[in-house]
Amino acid sequence: MSDTKRSSRIAGFHRQTIAERIAAVSEFAGLTDAERAHLADTGNLPPETADRLIENVVGTMNIPVGIATNMRIDGRDRLVPMATEESSVVAAVCNAARQCYDNGGFTTSMSGARMIAQVQLLDVSDVQHARLRILERIDEIRTVCDECDPLLVKLGGGFRELEARIIETRSGPMVITHLIVDTRDAMGANAVNTMAEALAPRIAAWTGGRTNLRILSNLADRRLARARCTWRLADIGGSEVRDGIITAYHFADADPYRAATHNKGIMNGISAVVLATGNDTRAVEAGAHAYAARNGRYASLTHWETTHDGDLAGSLELPMAVGLVGGATRLHPTAKVALRILGTDSAEDLARVIAAVGLAQNFSALKALATTGIQKGHMALHAHNIAMMAGAVGDEIDAVARALVAGGKVRLDLAEAELKQLRSSSRLGG
Ligand code: NAD
Repeated sequence: MSDTKRSSRIAGFHRQTIAERIAAVSEFAGLTDAERAHLADTGNLPPETADRLIENVVGTMNIPVGIATNMRIDGRDRLVPMATEESSVVAAVCNAARQCYDNGGFTTSMSGARMIAQVQLLDVSDVQHARLRILERIDEIRTVCDECDPLLVKLGGGFRELEARIIETRSGPMVITHLIVDTRDAMGANAVNTMAEALAPRIAAWTGGRTNLRILSNLADRRLARARCTWRLADIGGSEVRDGIITAYHFADADPYRAATHNKGIMNGISAVVLATGNDTRAVEAGAHAYAARNGRYASLTHWETTHDGDLAGSLELPMAVGLVGGATRLHPTAKVALRILGTDSAEDLARVIAAVGLAQNFSALKALATTGIQKGHMALHAHNIAMMAGAVGDEIDAVARALVAGGKVRLDLAEAELKQLRSSSRLGG
């Protein structure tokens, strides 16, 4: 079919079965039988589960799950599942954790499990009065919120605090109500969104204004996970390594161009655990980056210092809205197994483990950058990917990767040449 004849208007696509959708997509894109069969193989996520999680499902996307070893967190040894497509991420966490294991590992804490829902109020001229009218109704607001989720209240959660802020915008002043809710072991988006929607008509009636958005804030700064750790000089290779890490951190803290990459590295570790446990990676990432910019300038999420004894002290604090119920956590079979491996019994515990992983990741990235450079370790793993891209299979993958690393250049054209040579020499050798 020519490109211009193809239509993306597929009537009733969302009502079709997965097989029907694959057929429609295959016709559109001209997929081969092998490609159709590949799509239809959903691996260890049953197709009916995938079909319940999102819309218009045609397949699944497998991402490797690796285990971070050597993690000792608050005196307890943990194995941490990480789902990522990026090489070096799992190894980085294992390495960092090994270098602080004998010194006790990571210490973590949490500020609470409170999420914020926002209600936007417009078209009020007396914004100061409106703000106070809202704050005066705290008891009624508590009742409305808690009635939305009796189960959450029974579990010890529910409405906790009320804030009303006046902000100046290009559409004029607005009164923004914050409902602050303890969501316990849930990430809480649906829980607090329901409360915000239930409350909005009352806020409009009390103030004579008009409400617009009613949605949680991903800047979950009442749900901060914290991790700290001390790496002994003898365990990391001496004072030069320590000072290299600290000046690398100072660079990130002073320069948003560097901070973006520095924090991306932290999120390499964090998002991998968030994903492996079926949590919302975008929610955690949005919260992390907004928190990194909370003082008006985007900066490092971690801090690195020298202790009184000359050791290296690292710390990390960031919003961590993750849950054990809701979303995909209870539906995705791999997420359920990941939580079993972690042996976690609360969202708080999970959030604290994730913060420790983020700190470990940052240690390894900064250490590599400040010493040998990131490419040495990275390239060895990357070389395997390039070898596979060149078509290497089985033992060929290692052989091609080794040759690329030995040559100091990891490129697809060189991998293809290496593979060709390897195959012809093995043919010649019989
Ligand atoms: P949810 O509504 O499915 O589950 C939470 C509910 O589970 C609670 O309201 C409570 O009634 C019940 N519950 C049972 N056991 C509980 C326990 N031990 N602790 C707390 N609650 C318990 O899920 P959710 O956590 O409210 O929402 C998470 C989902 O919302 C994620 O999939 C996320 O992707 C999605 N989401 C995110 C955003 C955003 O981040 N901006 C917006 C909308 C939706």
